[in-house]
Amino acid sequence: MILQKNLPLCNFLACIILALLFIDSLVLAFSKMPAVGLFFLTASATAFLIFRKLKKHIFSGYHGDIDSIEGKINLAAENITEKEKILQSLSPKHEKISFLFEVSKKFIELSEPEEIYDFLLSTLDKLFPQADNILVFDFEKGQDNLSLVRSLKRKFAVIKEKKGGIIDSWILRHNSSLLIDDLIKDFRFDSYRVEAYTQRGCQSFVGSPFSIAEKPLGIVRMESVNPGVFSFDDSRLLRNICELAAVVLERGRLFEKARELAIRDSLTGLYLKDYFFDRLNHEFKRMNEGTSCGVIMADIDDFKKINDTYGHVVGDKVIIAISKILAALTKIPGMICGRFGGEEFVVLYPGCGLQSLVGLAERIRQEVNKTDLSFRRNTVHFTVSLGLALYPDTGKDALSLVKAADERLYKAKKEGKDRICFS
Ligand code: GH3
Ligand code: MG
Ligand code: MG
Repeated sequence: MILQKNLPLCNFLACIILALLFIDSLVLAFSKMPAVGLFFLTASATAFLIFRKLKKHIFSGYHGDIDSIEGKINLAAENITEKEKILQSLSPKHEKISFLFEVSKKFIELSEPEEIYDFLLSTLDKLFPQADNILVFDFEKGQDNLSLVRSLKRKFAVIKEKKGGIIDSWILRHNSSLLIDDLIKDFRFDSYRVEAYTQRGCQSFVGSPFSIAEKPLGIVRMESVNPGVFSFDDSRLLRNICELAAVVLERGRLFEKARELAIRDSLTGLYLKDYFFDRLNHEFKRMNEGTSCGVIMADIDDFKKINDTYGHVVGDKVIIAISKILAALTKIPGMICGRFGGEEFVVLYPGCGLQSLVGLAERIRQEVNKTDLSFRRNTVHFTVSLGLALYPDTGKDALSLVKAADERLYKAKKEGKDRICFS
């Protein structure tokens, strides 16, 4: 601005000085009038001095302007660099956030623990390419220990710590994330007691529990042979993923519990009648020609007398004792044991022959017969009668098979109780 305003004046003064110098040089060249030459010389010197003064003034404004413009340019450049940096960092952050959003959406769709563990491992695989191994441990509350449920091995074929090691116990005990930059320098752990180090030379670790409040459901441990591989951000990200997995796992477990409660009897834990029939019908549907299926109906003998003599509480204990015997003897895959009503039980034995069906029924009878209950210095003795039916020998569908078994149970009662009847 100042420069533009003063430019014509500047040019004008320069022209005058040049003109004076030109005249002066002409006069001096011909030197006929040295006085005039001297005059022009003085005038041009004076004009030069004035021009210098003015120029100083004019260009001081101009320099000030340049300084401020340069300052502004520098500021703008700094601003641009900063924004470029933010833009650069925003891109991966945005990708990460979108990825996490997709992960949460997928997690919420899952309810089976096996699916949840699979998805957890594949998510960690994508998010942590720097980990040499990723291990997922489930915490079995009843047994109070960890068990390896998933592992991703990028470098090592064998991982022996199926029940976890001291690092995993630390995470579980503290219910908190753990970041180890360099195991050898970490005062919390004796590296020679860490199998991941002694067997595989792993030096850096990051781990997190997946827990609901104080209740641990399991832990994740990632490891690398190089020190300083995991950052605090990695630890935080892992914790977030684990928290998500914990919520979904717990929800899955609650679903499973609700489903179990709906199909199991609360006193004995055996399946309810409706579920038993569902399974029996299912068995009939998938049965090929030539395959068989057996049903055993069992009823406690003179149970009313037990109730009347010792009371209902003891009666319940007898029902529970018999249920335990039945559950223990019907562990073959596919076998189902249910409580059919008050003191009646039913067993489904798919794919059996008459001999094995009779063998099972006889074992149940004998086991019940030799199991007594003690109550207030009394010994409560009890027995059961059993009716057996085998498809395709008897019955053409689920209902007629159960009916046949029930009729034979009635026959066993009539014949003297504490016995089995299969014809
Ligand atoms: P039987 O040898 O012919 O089977 O005679 P029973 O006395 O066992 O048969 P009955 O049908 O006359 O009596 C069954 C009794 O079982 C009647 C009922 O009060 C009792 N009962 C049914 N459900 C329960 C239960 O859950 N707990 C207890 N304590 N008793 C039950
Ligand atoms: Mg009965
Ligand atoms: Mg009875």
